[in-house]
Amino acid sequence: MYFSGPATRVYQHQIDERKKILELWVRRKRGNRKLECSGCGRKFAEAYDASERAVQDLPWSTLKTTVHIEIYRVKCRQCGVKIEKVPLLPGKAPFSKRFEDAVGQACESASARQVARQFGLPESTVRAIDRRFLERWAARRRKPALRQMGVDEIHLGKQRKFLTVVCNLETAEPLWFGRERKKETLDGFFQGELSARQRRGIEAACVDMWEPYRLSLEQWAPNCRIVYDKFHVMQHANKAIDEVRRAEFFRKGGPMRSLVKGKRWLLLSRWVNLTVGKRRELNQLFALNRKLFKAYLLKESLDRLWTYHYEGAMLNYLQRWIDQLRWQRLEPFQKLALMLLDHLDGILNYCRTKVRLGVVEAVNGNIKTLLRRGRGYKNLRYLLLKAQRMAATQTEFVVFQKAA
Ligand SMILES: [Zn+2]
Repeated sequence: MYFSGPATRVYQHQIDERKKILELWVRRKRGNRKLECSGCGRKFAEAYDASERAVQDLPWSTLKTTVHIEIYRVKCRQCGVKIEKVPLLPGKAPFSKRFEDAVGQACESASARQVARQFGLPESTVRAIDRRFLERWAARRRKPALRQMGVDEIHLGKQRKFLTVVCNLETAEPLWFGRERKKETLDGFFQGELSARQRRGIEAACVDMWEPYRLSLEQWAPNCRIVYDKFHVMQHANKAIDEVRRAEFFRKGGPMRSLVKGKRWLLLSRWVNLTVGKRRELNQLFALNRKLFKAYLLKESLDRLWTYHYEGAMLNYLQRWIDQLRWQRLEPFQKLALMLLDHLDGILNYCRTKVRLGVVEAVNGNIKTLLRRGRGYKNLRYLLLKAQRMAATQTEFVVFQKAA
């Protein structure tokens, strides 16, 4: 039986067939093992007193299992009268560690609602257990040094607005969440999470071309090179093509309007990822609208900028890309070109500091998946732990690599 074994002994049991409940009363064999204060770890030979606690353990067959366990308290010089340390009981909650681990693991691949049904618990209890499971996991793992960081923002909706996400580019793990996307937001990460030495150790940061982040990085991470990465730049290119699409939609009437309608996703997709049928759909659209065709080509070709590894070649390619804009009257892309020129140094930094592409995007995607799946993430700490665990176990990462 679960709580029996070398250290414990079942001295009474009871089965309620109708309610499907198994109850066990166990006593731990003390032998000459000492009791340990749960506050400071000091060992004691004598117990101060004993009491009984009922905890839910893993089910036995079809029976819900409740274990009544004897718990001792010790009289500690430092902590006063304190409960002993019981490895099987992680906290004050009426669940065994094994039970909490099982619930936490189930939460990795299913929603809290599904897990709640599976274990016959309220949804809020499942979330609380999952969070404790993740906190214990986070406490015992070592954290790699931060040399390359990613900073991204996630739009949470009209009311909650933006979330700033800091991640470790080398481990592809989210490190910190902050509300909003101001300079002060990112300042909060540097001030609250890192020592001066750790801040000096940061060599590169992949960020969006967003002034507040740049200012914060320059202030706090003096050795950090800012790299405007492909993911963030291409987001702006996607925005540009979407603007062209909308302008064409409103400019043209009748049949053109219905043709452009619903093509947003297609225009934002990479050509290589489209099926034959979808390519044909796009080609039909392009045959009728040269402007959209031109815009799509520009977006697609900008993507190749990151295939260059020499500054000169990269700069050359960008120059030729900008030259293509001449006489096109594609205003959103002209704006984009100006923005790229304004941030040229950070774009070329990709050739000077090697960073992993696609990490920020993957982290971002994982968080969005979590947000979509469960509504229980009003608590940012819980969301962060969940996303960290996801990155560490790579449960969803693969999916996003495929989509990228
Ligand atoms: Zn103590």
